[in-house]
Amino acid sequence: DQIRPKIEAHIREVKDFPKKGINFRDIMPLFTNPQLVNELCVVIADHVRHTVGHVDSVAGLEARGFLFGPQVAIQLGVPFVPIRKKGKLPGATIEASYQKEYGEDIVAIQEGAVKSGDIVFLIDDLLATGGTLRAAANLIQKAGGKVGEAFVLIELAPLNGRAKLPDVKLTTLISYD
Ligand code: IMP
Repeated sequence: DQIRPKIEAHIREVKDFPKKGINFRDIMPLFTNPQLVNELCVVIADHVRHTVGHVDSVAGLEARGFLFGPQVAIQLGVPFVPIRKKGKLPGATIEASYQKEYGEDIVAIQEGAVKSGDIVFLIDDLLATGGTLRAAANLIQKAGGKVGEAFVLIELAPLNGRAKLPDVKLTTLISYD
């Protein structure tokens, strides 16, 4: 709770990006403040310990989930599972598809990265329509794992992405109307 205003002060609003009419929330200014990034990852790890409990791994979504996920995993002393766009991870993979504004996209994890019964903490930067996080949750479930919690820094509340995740505990640090 104490960290929220500090993080909020580092989020930039960019109008008409990537195209006209879209209000993009840019988290990159946060990375000009390494101390705050570290504080944030420590706070997230503490949150996991106290409210989620034991997790077997932290899974993060390409690309901005990779800015936080590995750091939280290091804090917790558990493996980091990268979730990437199809075709990027070598070897056998498990895939899940989801609808984007135009057409569908596919995300993947490496086989064996999530084992049956694993409890996974899922992290990304932002929840918009919820399609991305839904696909990630489907992947983890397909591998036999359970999403202990899904966590995003920012929720764009009017898009109601939450509605796509009725079976997943979802925590957000900052919500915009
Ligand atoms: P969703 O699938 O519609 O929920 O979109 C979420 C994904 O799109 C996340 O992986 C975000 O990184 C990205 N995204 C959508 N809108 C924004 C934004 O305003 N700022 C940063 N990332 C965004």
